[in-house]
Amino acid sequence: MIYADNAATSFPKAPGVADAMRDYLDRIGASPGRSAHRLSIEAARIVFEARETLAALLGMDDSSRMIFTPGATFGINAALLGLLRHGDEVIASSMEHNAVMRPLRHLEGERGVRVRVAQTDGSGLVDPRQLGDLVTDRTRLVAVMHASNVTGTVQPVAEVSREIGPVPLLIDGAQSIGSLPVDLSRLGPCLYAFSGHKGLLGPPGIGGLCIGEGIDLEPLVRGGTGSRSEREEQPDFLPDLHEAGTPNAVGIAGLLAATRYVTERSVMSIREHELALFSRLADGLRGIPGVTLFGTADPERQLATASITIDGLSPSDAAHILDREHAILVRPGLHCAPSAHRTIGTFPAGTIRISLGPFNTADDVESILEAVADLAQNQTPPG
Ligand code: PMP
Repeated sequence: MIYADNAATSFPKAPGVADAMRDYLDRIGASPGRSAHRLSIEAARIVFEARETLAALLGMDDSSRMIFTPGATFGINAALLGLLRHGDEVIASSMEHNAVMRPLRHLEGERGVRVRVAQTDGSGLVDPRQLGDLVTDRTRLVAVMHASNVTGTVQPVAEVSREIGPVPLLIDGAQSIGSLPVDLSRLGPCLYAFSGHKGLLGPPGIGGLCIGEGIDLEPLVRGGTGSRSEREEQPDFLPDLHEAGTPNAVGIAGLLAATRYVTERSVMSIREHELALFSRLADGLRGIPGVTLFGTADPERQLATASITIDGLSPSDAAHILDREHAILVRPGLHCAPSAHRTIGTFPAGTIRISLGPFNTADDVESILEAVADLAQNQTPPG
């Protein structure tokens, strides 16, 4: 079996993740930051180390500005609902995922937030100048994903941050963390939301939101934090302001093991591995008659994610045949990003997305190319 659906969630997970989660459940089990006993202290140490390790990976000076969330979706919602008020204006790229667009459309209806969509080019690439030019004195936020889950296009977020000046930039980092170097200290004011279960190679159900210096968010959820328990008001300090309720310590234990693996192997070496695989995959796909590859032509501007269509075969039929006859697992359709598919001209059928990860091999790529060539030649939908 070849797993090529890493943009949905990575598989396999990093070595050590399952052991760390089992160890937490078998040996620790307690709630971090709640009781002063030894097991609670041990759980709190795991949470602290995970926060520090993630902050270091992302180039953050102050780890308390990284809050744990159940994933990128929650972090993006916390950022948008916590920041935007009636009359504010938001600029979002046309490649954004529904994790961004759905809360924005909700805020448009409920809070009168004005949503302006900045059209990218057909490869999915934003134009930082265009974004800078769209900013007005009512622009409260610009939302640009770090890399597309549809085409793998990597956005020039540093240039965008420069062009929009003091306006905060919301970066959906769901696809970039662990796959691309991220240094938040080199960006202007920004919010960076991520999941632990994709490029970080950790478990689902845990992720985070990095809140740039000077950005204040209303909390999305309020409740017990184990701190200032004498008060009925939410603590006003980070990270407790945004971390109400018993934390997902088992998820955080897995995420810590995953982040340590990624840090030790190094994001740069993962990037090099994936870039080599992607370059070969993209070259091979471009050479198959009847196959269209989307995204940019420059592998340096790409994640190891290839979205394709095959003439005469629907993406869902193609994915079905790849699974059934070739044991190659990919994801067809719209990938929760209808606006991105409209942008690249593949709405409503979508594409076949082949997304590679750190554990794929050069042999996997050759097998995928052979199977796609076979499909393109024979194009028989399943009966
Ligand atoms: N943004 C992008 C670009 C994604 O690919 C995903 C996951 N499909 C998300 C946001 C949401 O991530 P999660 O489901 O982990 O909250």
